[in-house]
Amino acid sequence: MNLIVLGSGSRGNCFALVCDGAVLLIDAGFSAREIERRLELAGVAPTALIGIALTHEHGDHAAGATRLAARHGAPILASFGTWRALAATGERCDYLPLGMATTTVAGPFTVNACPTSHDAAEPIALGVTMPGGVSLGAAYDLGRPTQAVRWFLRDRHCLILEANHDETLLRTSGYPVVVQQRIAGPGGHLSNRDAARLLDEVHHDGLQTVVLAHLSQRCNSEEAARGTVMTSLSARGFRGDLVLAEQDGPMATIAIRGPAQQSLFA
Ligand SMILES: [Zn+2]
Ligand SMILES: [Zn+2]
Repeated sequence: MNLIVLGSGSRGNCFALVCDGAVLLIDAGFSAREIERRLELAGVAPTALIGIALTHEHGDHAAGATRLAARHGAPILASFGTWRALAATGERCDYLPLGMATTTVAGPFTVNACPTSHDAAEPIALGVTMPGGVSLGAAYDLGRPTQAVRWFLRDRHCLILEANHDETLLRTSGYPVVVQQRIAGPGGHLSNRDAARLLDEVHHDGLQTVVLAHLSQRCNSEEAARGTVMTSLSARGFRGDLVLAEQDGPMATIAIRGPAQQSLFA
């Protein structure tokens, strides 16, 4: 299974999972045309799109979702609250529900969800499992990591996790206090320190890749995010790859191996 970061940050979030020639997007926070352009730059045909899984309806996650889905006949996979928020304004397209008690299959991808704490209609973290048992978790735009989220992210081989801001840089950002409180509050975003703490809790020997996502350009730096998270991961003996998602992708393709392939090369 391959993961391609098409772009992540406050100006848009979109990740592509490629397996057996099929493409599942995690979020579609750029225009449909821009997502198609980034897929083509990464060497992936947009016609291979078989589904668009959404964490929530905010524009930086869903701006191109319904247009892209309608254009390629691919369903939207989302919580009902997200779907209802999108359906009011978006183009007509197919819908597959995601929920904690629901397992949804799209081609080689099995997708499930976990509720998150964020100021949207019904936001979720996403889990995707592929043939061979390769498992990925994606959690961003969450103000607090709940026990459910910790449980949901355990045992994943790849994690896309929010490291939105450095707490000191947020305080000195010049944002009004009310905005700072929203970002750092329970409906906002995870700080670098929150991400480091969460990774300390969910780390296991099979964790191969951590992608830090949704970095704030104004309230974070690559050095701060990498340094804070790596301190925590190193203490747990992490030997995988730490990738910082960039706003303007596509980035180089990341190969994610399953448990069987891991043991072959161990
Ligand atoms: Zn966002
Ligand atoms: Zn959001």
